[in-house]
Amino acid sequence: MSRVARVVVDLSLDREFDYLVPSALSDALQVGSRVEVPFGRRTVSGYVVSFVEASSFPNLKPIKAMIGKKPLVEENILNLARWIADYYVAPVELAVRTVLPSAVRQTSARFKEVNIVSLTEQASDLEQVAALRRKAAVQGKVIDALAAGPVPLPELTAKLGAVSAAVRALERKGFVTVGSRVLRRRADAGHEVLPTQPLELMPEQASALELIRQSVDTGDPKVVLLFGVTGSGKTEVYLQAIDHVLKKGQGCIVLVPEISLTPQTVDRFRSRFGDTVAVLHSELSSGERHDEWHRVHEGSARIAIGPRSAVFAPMKNLGLIVVDEEHEHSYKQEEAPRYNARDVAVMRGHREGCAVVLGSATPSLESHSNAQRGKYALARMAHRVDHRQMPGMRIVDMRQEMEKERRLNVLSSDLYEAIRARLDRTEQTILFLNRRGFATSLVCPSCGAVARCENCSVSMTYHKPTHRLLCHICGAGQPVPDCCPNPDCRDPAFKYSGIGTQRVEDVLHKTFPKARIERMDSDTMTKKDSYRKVLNAFRGGQIDILLGTQMIAKGLDFPSVTLVGVIAADLSLHMPDFRAGERTFQLLTQVAGRAGRGDLVGEVIVQTFTPFHPAIQAARTLDYDGFLDQELEYRRELGYPPYGHLVCITLRGAQEELVKLTGTTFAKRLQEKLDPSVRLGGPTPAPLAKAHGEFRYQLILRAPQTKQITAPLKDVLRDFKWPDAVAWSVDVDASSLM
Ligand SMILES: [Zn+2]
Ligand SMILES: [Zn+2]
Repeated sequence: MSRVARVVVDLSLDREFDYLVPSALSDALQVGSRVEVPFGRRTVSGYVVSFVEASSFPNLKPIKAMIGKKPLVEENILNLARWIADYYVAPVELAVRTVLPSAVRQTSARFKEVNIVSLTEQASDLEQVAALRRKAAVQGKVIDALAAGPVPLPELTAKLGAVSAAVRALERKGFVTVGSRVLRRRADAGHEVLPTQPLELMPEQASALELIRQSVDTGDPKVVLLFGVTGSGKTEVYLQAIDHVLKKGQGCIVLVPEISLTPQTVDRFRSRFGDTVAVLHSELSSGERHDEWHRVHEGSARIAIGPRSAVFAPMKNLGLIVVDEEHEHSYKQEEAPRYNARDVAVMRGHREGCAVVLGSATPSLESHSNAQRGKYALARMAHRVDHRQMPGMRIVDMRQEMEKERRLNVLSSDLYEAIRARLDRTEQTILFLNRRGFATSLVCPSCGAVARCENCSVSMTYHKPTHRLLCHICGAGQPVPDCCPNPDCRDPAFKYSGIGTQRVEDVLHKTFPKARIERMDSDTMTKKDSYRKVLNAFRGGQIDILLGTQMIAKGLDFPSVTLVGVIAADLSLHMPDFRAGERTFQLLTQVAGRAGRGDLVGEVIVQTFTPFHPAIQAARTLDYDGFLDQELEYRRELGYPPYGHLVCITLRGAQEELVKLTGTTFAKRLQEKLDPSVRLGGPTPAPLAKAHGEFRYQLILRAPQTKQITAPLKDVLRDFKWPDAVAWSVDVDASSLM
């Protein structure tokens, strides 16, 4: 009996299609096999996602061919992709594409092979070799070069010049053999790390490790939330838990936020576990990514470490998934499918019976409430390793500062004095500012007009090195105008307003002319290895002050940093988003955690215009629980997460009236199908009301269960007629409402 295969094709058609399995392929074809199928008059490629006995469609066409011998996507990963498509209301083929990196998916992707030249038995016959040398000197040199062992042909050529003819001649005469070998492309080639041994654990670390081990050893483990203050040694706990898993013959996945996937992080894993660590990083070349992925797929690497997409690593016999900094928003993908890798990790762990550890110094409210309700197990580490003190945090009220100085300085006198003291003692300082560029905008002193982007509802940022205005939303740039753009004003005296990292760098150079200062933001870190270079220089004591954006907030561990300064804490606080308080608290705690990680006590100075905001006060007093109680109270009242799920539908288009009208019609249709317990708000203009020349409107839905929203939503989406000029997107468990 002929079977029917269900195939997802590489076209945007959000459904599966049935094809007959030809008898020639019936043994080889598996779930996950890549195939070529007829589609209309074309041939397209796709993946087999399941087999069924019969199809409800008549006249099925047969599958044309199978690409590759073994399926690249295992059934468990395909099922995960389907769950993502269902839960996040995303097209199936997009979800399938997401679980398989393009470096692997492309038909052109393959291993790099090189020719390896090695000596044969005959080459040890001294008489024959001597005779050869007399006639062909180059061939003699090739034999000498191979004396220590086989050498790749390109290497021989690099050493001896053009030798391929000589090698061919030697092969003909029987002195050498030429074989091909897969060459592993690796980004860290030439970068060696020293092996490390497990460290002795503090009591809190030891009990956390014990809890994780138990979880690994049971068949149906609970998720463990590892809640440890900065500097409490979470990574060491991960390392020893992973060691336990490897000894049982199982594999691990470690997720870290993209931004903290620094060489420093990777080195810690490589120095403990060596070559069994595979790094799946978007900054690798596609060849490197292809090879690392296959090392995991074949089982030669048993630890996969990477940002959110590493949750799909094809690791077999998975024993543990670690999600470090689980509260991080970069785990959420901002394009379809808009999945959250932390939640996918929990789902994958549940389905494969493997342990999951979520680690953070500032857990998300969602994870913390899961721990409070007993759904997750909680391991708490409240002390730093070696009894190092948490750094003291001082809040500087910039309103008073402004009154005292009669102007607004970038550095308050407190921060200035603190930096100077560090310079005198040759200790290091980290300064944090959440905004790149020089000034937020150019403001006209006469009429107040601000230089705005024409396509987006934001002001342009002034970049001093190029003397241009840049839009940080759409990237549009323009020269600084000669005078105010307001036709009634035309005042030539534009002024800078607001500050960015470039401006702070300027001020620092003027204030501390002898200090060695380095700026780290996406404008300066444009080369692949610039990040590693700056961090190495900082570690080596060749930099006194490191200034940067989020890039420096996470995971960095430098023993001689004794001062951390936050230039403007208010930047993240006044975002029009219900998570603004939570984010500010997390950010301040993370940044502060960079201080005092060595033997010296650290200090943190935070400049703000709202010194009494609960998020800032809680960060100062390290009162996570107090902050939580207050924040949860407010979330409960409004039905926000963790007291409910939130879905954000965004509509956008160039014609504002049409976008708004479509939103109203859609909301009405949806409302008819919703349970009364579901709250629907909008359409209202999004906080970022215009971007890339398009107006943006939002519908916000809140309900105790996601399905209460997504099931009726899918119903409406199935036959809603969208105008061509309106684009839409659905974000389930949205992390940002901009
Ligand atoms: Zn003006
Ligand atoms: Zn713009």
